[in-house]
Amino acid sequence: MLTSKQKKFLNSIFNPKEIIWEKASLFAYGVDSSSLHGEPEVVVLPSKVDQIQKLLFFAQNEGIHIVPRGRGTGRAGACVPKKGIVVSLLKLNHIIEIRKNDFVVIVEPGVITYNLQQELKKYNLFYPPDPASVKFSTIGGNVATNAGGMQALKYGVTGDYVLGLEVVLADGTLLNLKNFCHKNVCGLNLAKLFVGSEGTLGIISKIYLKVLPLPNYSVSILFGFKSLDKAISNILNLFKEGFLPCALEIIDKNCLNAISKVDSLPWEKDLNIQTVLIVKFDGTENSVKEDINRVLSLFSADVSIVGKTEEEQEKIWELRRKISPAAYRLKPAKLSEDFTVPRGKIGEFLRAGERLSNQYDLPVLTFGHVGDGNIHTNIMYDPEKIEDRKKADKIHRLLLEKTLELEGTITGEHGIGLLKKKYIGLQLDSNTLQIMNAIKCTLDPNNILNPGKAF
Ligand SMILES: Cc1cc2nc3c(=O)[nH]c(=O)nc-3n(C[C@H](O)[C@H](O)[C@H](O)COP(=O)(O)OP(=O)(O)OC[C@H]3O[C@@H](n4cnc5c(N)ncnc54)[C@H](O)[C@@H]3O)c2cc1C
Repeated sequence: MLTSKQKKFLNSIFNPKEIIWEKASLFAYGVDSSSLHGEPEVVVLPSKVDQIQKLLFFAQNEGIHIVPRGRGTGRAGACVPKKGIVVSLLKLNHIIEIRKNDFVVIVEPGVITYNLQQELKKYNLFYPPDPASVKFSTIGGNVATNAGGMQALKYGVTGDYVLGLEVVLADGTLLNLKNFCHKNVCGLNLAKLFVGSEGTLGIISKIYLKVLPLPNYSVSILFGFKSLDKAISNILNLFKEGFLPCALEIIDKNCLNAISKVDSLPWEKDLNIQTVLIVKFDGTENSVKEDINRVLSLFSADVSIVGKTEEEQEKIWELRRKISPAAYRLKPAKLSEDFTVPRGKIGEFLRAGERLSNQYDLPVLTFGHVGDGNIHTNIMYDPEKIEDRKKADKIHRLLLEKTLELEGTITGEHGIGLLKKKYIGLQLDSNTLQIMNAIKCTLDPNNILNPGKAF
């Protein structure tokens, strides 16, 4: 519990619009997109970096927990507080500078990633990382979780675009890791240490990002296959032939079944399509057209739908977006995972999902970023039925073990947060965890920053 002296101090550095004490409003800052929730004692919304510095200096001395927060879209409970102060970065939301000639942009952490992408378009520039939450998550949250998205196959993830950072450390020190160069090997790359650190090492207050020229042409194609095996062998052929699409997504038969309960599928029913791949190429018009012609002759699909205009492409991608809401037509609850396997092992992982679904008679939906091995898994179940719940847990455990057996990772996108802490020791050895904890102790000796999260 904060003392009245501590409350007085907080009221002295944050004006009434920058601090929330009312219980009802605090609730919204105690949740994210996981099923977890907690309750902060107070929420502050700094609009200047020196407020964060004063706050952390004070919190370190007083031993008060600090939980940084972007838009709260995280799926692992990483910004869910146990107690203490939530620091919302949403008021630090300015694009500070676009350096067109340097292909660099400098932003505050509370900028919504989509807004940045739209602004950059005016300069013919492109910031590729595109988590599905791009329209509502913040760039600070994306950096702190090293968010990836559909285009990671070609363009990589958030961390690949972080050139430099400014970070407020646990004792209030401002660490200036600014960098405007696309290449820089001067000393240890400390900025990268904060990428994916889930708010445990410092509060990111400024971000220097690399940007690219905006590709001016793209085409998406939907391919339908009568079996999962056929789809997998076509994916492997695509890799073997050296194609690098910007997106390659899979939709399995359980997903198609769910979607068919809310909408009609864009092919004749008796074609009996079991798996869909959506491939997108971008670049110059000539290079994309060449790729499309080659891929159309390479693939032996049972259905092909080519989307050239923006509208046609949207229609294709709509099918992918329908999966999550439609899934609840199969069962009322889901265990959702972001297991990721090496690209050469996607076939084994997908077949394991299909086999377990049949064996336990529960819908296991596998879909998503098959191109980079990050296959989303939704195990659907009825929480009212104990048997269902047990079967879902069993499938979850077996898929986790399969992922590790295939030398994959327990999280390719969503991070560890609170949800996956119990599994981290299955993937990382004790030496690795010890070094992570030593880094944490050095930067945050009193363990005030997002304690109990990540590692
Ligand atoms: C519908 C939906 C789709 C999604 N799709 C994807 C996807 O495709 N790919 C993907 O990777 N993720 C995805 N996510 C997960 C989530 O959107 C990402 O993890 C995102 O990066 C979180 O951003 P946020 O602003 O909401 O951060 P929050 O959820 O608020 O915070 C996430 C973590 O970052 C820390 N943090 C936030 N800001 C700062 C800061 N300035 N300094 C230090 N630490 C900070 C928090 O403490 C917390 O640990 C999805 C989530 C939803 C709900």
